[in-house]
Amino acid sequence: MRDPNCIFCKIVEDKVPSVKVYEDEHAVAFLDIAPLANGHTLVIPRNHAHKIEDLSETDNRGVWELVRIVVPRLTEAMAAEGMTVAVNNGEAAGQEVHHVHVHLIPRRRDDGYGPIHSLFKGRRPEVTIPELEAIVHRIRAI
Ligand code: 5GP
Ligand code: ZN
Repeated sequence: MRDPNCIFCKIVEDKVPSVKVYEDEHAVAFLDIAPLANGHTLVIPRNHAHKIEDLSETDNRGVWELVRIVVPRLTEAMAAEGMTVAVNNGEAAGQEVHHVHVHLIPRRRDDGYGPIHSLFKGRRPEVTIPELEAIVHRIRAI
């Protein structure tokens, strides 16, 4: 299913230009138009879905399978030393395009960007086990 107003649905259908890396029955990988690093790739489901929780099981498996296929190839092609694999899931998390996409960003040890952890300033090493258990209780109650 496509959303006629969605730029990534248009990319799936080749209605707007893109540079595709790899595609199969369920998902498409293409280069980001404003790369954060050389080779920055996006992996998307063919079917429109806003967020991870909106994906069908088949499309979810398809996206992550294409991630698994593309990561080693992209790593080798870009002579990368690692890969940041990330999803901005929802606007509050920074999602700008409302068609779920996995960012694959080739990394080098000396690129100076650090881990995703560096986005967050409030790490709490003093968190207690009861606090963690209270969170799990809330999750499992749903
Ligand atoms: P988000 O912030 O939603 O996680 O990331 C959206 C990504 O899509 C950005 O990195 C942006 O550069 C990329 N992007 C947005 N529009 C287009 C487009 O039309 N073509 C391609 N190839 N990438 C796009
Ligand atoms: Zn879409």
